[in-house]
Amino acid sequence: MNPVKDSTILIVDDEKLNLVALNKILSPEYTILIAKNGVDAIKKAETEKPSLILLDILMPGMSGFEVLEILKATDSTREIPVIIVSGLNGDEDEVQGFFSGAVDYIRKPFKKEIVRMRVRNQIRLVKQMKIIEDLGLIDPLTGIANRRCFDERMSTEWKRAAREQHPISILMMDLDNFKNYNDTYGHSQGDTLLKRAAQIFKTNAKRGGDIAARLGGEEFIVILPATDRAGAHALAESIRFDMERLTLVLDDGTITTATVSIGTASTIPDEDASETAMQKFIDLADAMCYKAKGLGRNRVCSAEFSCNTPET
Ligand code: GH3
Ligand code: MG
Ligand code: MG
Repeated sequence: MNPVKDSTILIVDDEKLNLVALNKILSPEYTILIAKNGVDAIKKAETEKPSLILLDILMPGMSGFEVLEILKATDSTREIPVIIVSGLNGDEDEVQGFFSGAVDYIRKPFKKEIVRMRVRNQIRLVKQMKIIEDLGLIDPLTGIANRRCFDERMSTEWKRAAREQHPISILMMDLDNFKNYNDTYGHSQGDTLLKRAAQIFKTNAKRGGDIAARLGGEEFIVILPATDRAGAHALAESIRFDMERLTLVLDDGTITTATVSIGTASTIPDEDASETAMQKFIDLADAMCYKAKGLGRNRVCSAEFSCNTPET
């Protein structure tokens, strides 16, 4: 059987043997492009717009981390997912990879099946994203998922977590004193802040399957499949911290800042968990966000949800 090759993958590696091996694994399913150094990789990423990039780290000249940095700083290549394929086997290297915006990390020497599966996962996500764009599930101002998209994905992920008995977490986020920000700096500057905040939410929620959405106004939500309370809290703290560090400079040089309050909810849904339970789960995250506001804003409040909790 010869599948339709409807996705293109750019493989970046200076070692011929790796290029040959990866090409052999992936070329039955995808159109393969090859780059042997960082400069070539960036050029091909910009002109060919591949669906996915497999990136080696140790290369003469520009390192893979440097390539990744440039790809993520460039509008035309920012959204292309990058899987690092590296012989660097330390946990710190993997962490640095994710921190730099990679979506996955494969260690060398790699196993054929692992490469095939991880690539398939990412290609599946790229296709889902494309469908989402085509269906009008994107918020026009911020470019991230909108409420409709959230509703659909939440329902899917909730059922999946119930079926597979995996944890699921959500983060409910509301910008602090946003009305005041609008009133002080103007509505258009408020819009700019919303766009930058959305980018922060999106870049933090970057594991395959994570989704950041704008629910409306200055309210956002992140779905974290297969993530427990500790993981959700850590990610919320990272978002809170990034927001606190964000500075927006106005035309007259004024520097503005903003903060966010976040409520997290986590659970392993019962196998027969209903949509009603899901709504209560969302309400709990909302209540935690409200609690964070009450405690002085710019903070994270977390809770564990139980499907069996009797109504109060
Ligand atoms: P809190 O810290 O309690 O959340 O206070 P807040 O001022 O952020 O909350 P409030 O709900 O009182 O105000 C939200 C403001 O968001 C009011 C509204 O004008 C503004 N807003 C809603 N949608 C948009 C938008 O798309 N663009 C801009 N610039 N402002 C918006
Ligand atoms: Mg609000
Ligand atoms: Mg607010």
